[in-house]
Parts: sequence; structure tokens; C-alpha cells
Amino acid sequence: MRCPHCGGEDCVRIHIDLEDEQELRFYSCRRCEKRWWEHGGEPITLDEALELTSKHEPPPRPRRTE
Ligand SMILES: [Zn+2]
Repeated sequence: MRCPHCGGEDCVRIHIDLEDEQELRFYSCRRCEKRWWEHGGEPITLDEALELTSKHEPPPRPRRTE
């Protein structure tokens, strides 16, 4: 996919399925070396992502914008 930060085509998207059909996405761009996370379409920090993958209680239901 195209990187929203540098416009390059080398951006990789990885899906991680959480409990309760939650979806976590990890983006990594090889061109500008930007890395970021999204949960329910909202950008989150690395700390929040790690918390989501380690925590067992269900996180708040995400609001889909698309
Ligand atoms: Zn980029």
C-alpha cells in the first residue's frame, strides 16, 4: 500500500486478530522507516498496541469509520 507519510509504495500492512473479533493493524514503511499502529481505524501508540495484545479483558468496541 502507499505510505501516507512519504507517498512511497513500500508500506507493509500487517493484521493481527485480537479476541472478540477485534483487529489490530501494524504499518511499516521501508522508505521513510515510519512505523505505526491502528486499532478500529484509530491510530494508537506502540504501548497501547502491546497492551491490547497482552491483555485478556475485552477492550472498548471500536467505531468503524468506513
Ligand atoms: Zn513512508
